[in-house]
Amino acid sequence: MSLNRMEGKRAIVIGGSIAGKLSARVLSDFFEEVIVLEKDQKNDSIAIRKGVPQGSQGHVLLKSGEELLEELFPGIIAEMVKEGSTVSDFSSDLVWFHHGCRKISFDSGLSIIQQSRSFLEWHIQKRLEIIPNIDFRYGCTVKKLLLKDNKEISGITLEKHDGRQMNLSGDLVVDASGAASLTPKWLEELGFKKPKKTEVKVDLFYASMIFGKLADATANWHSLLVYPNPPKQSRGGTISPLEGNRHLVTLLGYGVEPLPNDHLSFLQYAKNLDQPDLYEAIKTAVPESGIEIYRFPALRRFHYDKLKQFPAGLLVIGDSFCRIDPVFAQGMSIAAMEAEVLRKLLKSSKTKEKLTKDFHRKISKIIDIPWLIALTEDFRFRHATGEKPIGLSFLQRYVKNVVLACSHNQTVYSQFMKVLHLKAHPVSLFNPAILAGVLSSKNKIE
Ligand SMILES: Cc1cc2nc3c(=O)[nH]c(=O)nc-3n(C[C@H](O)[C@H](O)[C@H](O)COP(=O)(O)OP(=O)(O)OC[C@H]3O[C@@H](n4cnc5c(N)ncnc54)[C@H](O)[C@@H]3O)c2cc1C
Repeated sequence: MSLNRMEGKRAIVIGGSIAGKLSARVLSDFFEEVIVLEKDQKNDSIAIRKGVPQGSQGHVLLKSGEELLEELFPGIIAEMVKEGSTVSDFSSDLVWFHHGCRKISFDSGLSIIQQSRSFLEWHIQKRLEIIPNIDFRYGCTVKKLLLKDNKEISGITLEKHDGRQMNLSGDLVVDASGAASLTPKWLEELGFKKPKKTEVKVDLFYASMIFGKLADATANWHSLLVYPNPPKQSRGGTISPLEGNRHLVTLLGYGVEPLPNDHLSFLQYAKNLDQPDLYEAIKTAVPESGIEIYRFPALRRFHYDKLKQFPAGLLVIGDSFCRIDPVFAQGMSIAAMEAEVLRKLLKSSKTKEKLTKDFHRKISKIIDIPWLIALTEDFRFRHATGEKPIGLSFLQRYVKNVVLACSHNQTVYSQFMKVLHLKAHPVSLFNPAILAGVLSSKNKIE
């Protein structure tokens, strides 16, 4: 028997961003009513929200995320393309310098759609608004969790924008409140232990500006990515298309100061990258926005799956559960994969206790992979600190050789792309064909 038939009357989602929206879509198939509580006010147009400060930075939707989004909202990808998203082949439309080498360009068959994060969120929002049992309540900040019988979550306390507080009962509560998640504190208040937290400090920053037309030299590509070349070079940058014939230009750096904070220092920073392409593209272009800076001090992961005592009916999803280095563009796709786990478990779980336990255990397994991918790269920066994965130096050497082989070997690059898009396990990089390509590469470190 599925959970909804047993007791699924009302689900409450804390936070109406990507993880919250995708969870709400899944829950709407199982609960009579899904209430999404969002502390921000409603946007009546495509706009950045205060509650999502990273919203002005580039957000790439990986192929895994795109496919799951399409499953949840059939036709949404075509709709976005019609309204301004750019379809790009991940190889032939992308100029990518990685560890100092340019990736081979070929028709890879792996395409992505590119747009601003607000545009993506807006399209998901429009789809949710036509689902009758989903109710978005804006200007509602969740303040605490309510517990019944010392073991089960029975709802939340929220505060409206005018300061009034009220309780709301619910059969299932999903925390999708992102980096600001207060679940560890709320658990303590209810008499439970806080989860263990793993942090890896990287001191990454993003600085982004929107430009209109770029230099003609860019006519044969859609996007440019200059990934840093650690440990020698900790600076990088990207250009990606936005809806409305605009471009988002992002400069980034690990442990780098000072940050570019005006147009002149932005250009100077771009000029100092190892590759001239980004600077050449923007040196005469006219900015259409100011600079938006976002600091990302550390990757952080909570081990809710390891807690022995945990209240049934509380699920933690998205960035509330784990925040990974955004350079790898995984966050939204991980949220989609977690929503998919939720859908499967809601179909099969017989009790709330089991659903809660299995959910955190399964999403922790999902996260193990992107976490390893990110840490393998992040620990190349000498200032990065935190718990290192087992076999790190072997992995770093092998992955660097994979990356270097991607500059001339299509087979290796195709598989590497699948791993980055969370469509294949990193172990597949040791398949015989890939291993042979890497070992025979003309471009490798010993
Ligand atoms: C600089 C940067 C660049 C990134 N680039 C990419 C990328 O290229 N690709 C990618 O896939 N991911 C990227 N990410 C990650 C991505 O932003 C997140 O993983 C994704 O948005 C999912 O987050 P979320 O929905 O869990 O939380 P968030 O998006 O942070 O949203 C949390 C929501 O909860 C609300 N909220 C918070 N507290 C409360 C409360 N108490 N009560 C009610 N509401 C509350 C907030 O207002 C907000 O709407 C990037 C992140 C950063 C920082």
